[in-house]
Amino acid sequence: MNWEKNVRKVEPYIPGEQPKRQNIIKLNTNECPYPPAPGVKAALERIQYENFRLYPDANITELSSELAKYYHVNKEQVFVGVGSDDVLAMAFLTFFNSDKPVLFPDITYAFYDVWAELYGIPYKQIPLTDDFTIKSEDYFGENGGIVITNPNAPTGIYKEIGEIEEIIKANPDVVVIVDEAYVDFGGQSCIPLVEKYDNLLVVQTFSKSRSMAGMRIGFAVGQEKIIGYLQDAKFSFNSYTMNQPALAVGVESVRDDAYFKETVGKIINTRERMKVEFKKLGFEMTDSMTNFLFVTHPKVAAADIFNAAREEGIFLRYWNKPRINNYLRITIGTDEEMDTLIDFLKKYLA
Ligand code: PMP
Repeated sequence: MNWEKNVRKVEPYIPGEQPKRQNIIKLNTNECPYPPAPGVKAALERIQYENFRLYPDANITELSSELAKYYHVNKEQVFVGVGSDDVLAMAFLTFFNSDKPVLFPDITYAFYDVWAELYGIPYKQIPLTDDFTIKSEDYFGENGGIVITNPNAPTGIYKEIGEIEEIIKANPDVVVIVDEAYVDFGGQSCIPLVEKYDNLLVVQTFSKSRSMAGMRIGFAVGQEKIIGYLQDAKFSFNSYTMNQPALAVGVESVRDDAYFKETVGKIINTRERMKVEFKKLGFEMTDSMTNFLFVTHPKVAAADIFNAAREEGIFLRYWNKPRINNYLRITIGTDEEMDTLIDFLKKYLA
């Protein structure tokens, strides 16, 4: 049994449930309720399965170029990975190699501490203020790197990019990662700041606003130097991260900007309507700028609502964690799905 002494023991991140049951309303993992762009379907139909015998393009040339064009950078400034989880994991491995702690909020994407533990990176979780906001000054001290999610998750709160810029500017000696998984739903991206700051890495995903969680596409934008280091790490780990279908459909998704904007617009409208509906039911909430709401009810326990909704086939997200154990994170679904949830809550809370 001695080999177990040498095992790198980790406590894994637990993703939201993917229930096998049919006819459920799935509002627990921030997926988009609408299909990907029509061009994605057409691209899939063009795929020749015989070509699967060949390795995919290790350099991800076409998709990087398409993203570069969309974000007005050059393709050497774009890194693509298997969902933003892959991009972030690679960025932690590449850039957080200091004895000083990497800083991120106590309430944020729960994967950051898991990667830090996995790689043995020292880290410090900085408490959000009582109203769940990130105080820039908390990130001005000595550190080994910074990760800010903007808008933050699961709080949904957006921080103005001027304030994010203060954090980047105050930390020229470390890499600052801005995780923008939800930025398309109303926030402003930090990508334009990349030009000014060589220590900035902006990470985004196709999983939410582009309706492609199942294809696993994420990317990072930074100056050529920082992206070059990420590429070196990737090519020292696994050269062929992206499979052929993912590369083909990713390109088509970026090309169809009208569809993208329409889908995001629908989610935003539903979200704003839901803010009103939830308030009418007595819920309190943050001003979410994402595709989810983060709500609490002053009279009814979040865990009870979570369980009762689940019985009805409505899946929400709940964490039994300090500070947020009376909150629910509710993904914005279609209008019909959300109305069903509201009807259920009306009856349950009555
Ligand atoms: N960052 C944040 C803040 C997220 O909520 C998620 C989704 N779980 C991710 C990154 C990872 O998403 P994906 O790997 O699907 O791109």
